[in-house]
Amino acid sequence: MKNLRSLIIILLFVTIPLVSNAERVKVRLFSNNNIEALYVSFDLGLYDLYAGDSSLLESSLGEGMSVELLPSVAGVKVSVNNYEYGVFKEVTLRAVDTACILCLNPKGVKQRTYEGNLVVSAFDAKNLRIINDVDFETYLAGVVQSEIYGQQSDIFRIQATISRTWALRNMGKHKADGFNFCDYVHCQAYQNRCIRPDIMLGTMQSSGETIVDADGKLIDTPFHSNSGGETANSEDVWRTALPYLRSVQDTFSFRMRQSDWTKVIPKDKWLNYFAKTHKLNIQDPEVRETLLGFQQPHRQAKILGVQLTRVRTDFKLKSTFFSVSTDSKTGDVVLNGHGYGHGVGLSQEGTIRMVSLGISYDSIIRHYYTGASIHRDEQVSERYVEHFVTEITKIIEEDKANPGKVKSKKDDWLGKLFRVRDRMDREEEFDESKQEMESDWKIEW
Ligand SMILES: [Zn+2]
Repeated sequence: MKNLRSLIIILLFVTIPLVSNAERVKVRLFSNNNIEALYVSFDLGLYDLYAGDSSLLESSLGEGMSVELLPSVAGVKVSVNNYEYGVFKEVTLRAVDTACILCLNPKGVKQRTYEGNLVVSAFDAKNLRIINDVDFETYLAGVVQSEIYGQQSDIFRIQATISRTWALRNMGKHKADGFNFCDYVHCQAYQNRCIRPDIMLGTMQSSGETIVDADGKLIDTPFHSNSGGETANSEDVWRTALPYLRSVQDTFSFRMRQSDWTKVIPKDKWLNYFAKTHKLNIQDPEVRETLLGFQQPHRQAKILGVQLTRVRTDFKLKSTFFSVSTDSKTGDVVLNGHGYGHGVGLSQEGTIRMVSLGISYDSIIRHYYTGASIHRDEQVSERYVEHFVTEITKIIEEDKANPGKVKSKKDDWLGKLFRVRDRMDREEEFDESKQEMESDWKIEW
């Protein structure tokens, strides 16, 4: 009976991919930059270098080695430690070990490090196209680190759930370009591998969690820096009205970094903008009065029929949630605004405040996404997450207790984390059937 059960469990793992735990994604790196040259070095583990994806050029590249990649009309020119291999249409650096970190130094752009594989081709004769082929959850931890600040793991857990939900809904966003996501805000920021254990912890705690609507479908999960005290309806910012993206009161966004802003604009510039761009008659006293005294005790979508989102773009404002007054001395128009971002969905700073007040993870998500709930993927076992969380919490505490004691990368929290992850990945498929072997989970350093 027991064998049959474990067989069924193994078959389940074989036939159904672990959607939120094992899938890989392809992310275009430095997608917002022109990359004329890339120098790759190796921070941890070994890599094999391939022309295309199967013709091995050099194996076991590691510490002390460097790869130079240059674009050309015919493809990518490849050199390893100054030895020139030639020009290839595409080259792949494939991670050999579980714990592998690449250090990327593009010409003229700040250095970054990533885990996983790297696929490089020529974008055109002068620029490279760099793709990181990486484990989905590793990518998510990097996104969380790039997208939100804070100290408490629940903040990162919420961001990870939102980012996972977004990513699973948008896997095909760059399908035509041959990858899943770019690393810029167009998709989600992914500016480095995750280097903080608390962010890794929060991401891991959210494993298998997504946000769904009443019908169990993944929702669209927009977020912004700060709502200014009230979130916006989706149809007031974009075209579609969605039942879970409703305007809600959000006092949690008060008194944070991005709660308020002011912008001064010359009166003529402000009035002429509405006259020229939107054909309003600014000689009409009523029109003038509205344009110079517009108030928003609650968020509105328009000013005299003009979409506030358009005004925000044209004047590069932090938000559409502003009131207008006139400076009595200079005569300039003063915009007093609240919040930062489009205002739809979750306010990140509101979330940071709510977490600090001890409000639960589920309640925060339900506060910002009306009527939505958290779905937990049954295939990501609680035991797996629990063990990981226990181990990584221990690592964080050890590191705090012994600051500065780290001798090499293999000994720091990341090296330990890799060992935990590696061991658990191997144990995972036997999860339920091996309950009596609890001691197997103990990690030996
Ligand atoms: Zn994109």
